[in-house]
Amino acid sequence: MMSGERILVIEDEARIAQFIERGLIYEGYRVNVARDGQTGLNIARDTPPDLVILDWMLPGLDGLEVCRRLRAASDVPILMLTAKDDVSDRVSALDTGADDYLVKPFSIDELMARVRALFRRATPTSRPEVLRFADLTLDTGTHRAYRGDHAIDLTAKEYDLLELFMRNPRQVLTRDVIFDRVWGYDFGGESNIIEVYVRYLRQKTEANNEARLIHTVRGVGYVLREE
Ligand code: CA
Repeated sequence: MMSGERILVIEDEARIAQFIERGLIYEGYRVNVARDGQTGLNIARDTPPDLVILDWMLPGLDGLEVCRRLRAASDVPILMLTAKDDVSDRVSALDTGADDYLVKPFSIDELMARVRALFRRATPTSRPEVLRFADLTLDTGTHRAYRGDHAIDLTAKEYDLLELFMRNPRQVLTRDVIFDRVWGYDFGGESNIIEVYVRYLRQKTEANNEARLIHTVRGVGYVLREE
């Protein structure tokens, strides 16, 4: 498993947040910490994480509500932390869209094992899926893309970029995030390579005069959305 995935930790208790953060960084993950739900949602929107570790009991928006909102916006794996060792609470967590839960107190080894398991489950090669947005379809198993009934012939990088958009529909993706996710490093913001690839994708996804789906957010980045 390649490390360097970005994990968002939403936990109000400083001691626990720090314990988790240190453990994750030690394993090579990049970590963002939010101390309340709204801050967590803001971070998730601005810097889409690869996985979210979400505490149940939070001030303001509670973990279930945060989970619901995260799930409405993306398929990011969500691991919920709960002090409540109660069957109905676990069921609520999973019903709300959490992928797994861990009951406090837990060991760092147990947490890491759950995180690795969620990443394994989320890896496209192990679980092909068909992503859909509007009339766009992307099959992560065959790497084939379609606009309506028309097959779209994509290069590897075009595919990666379209997959990133389709995994984060209606979310504004900054240039930094796109560089990082598609090219795997930071271009320092000087390159126009994203503009070039977005242009290719638009040409291919609008080849039959279909409505534009990849929109420019001036000065920020791009978003996949309908008009
Ligand atoms: Ca808490």
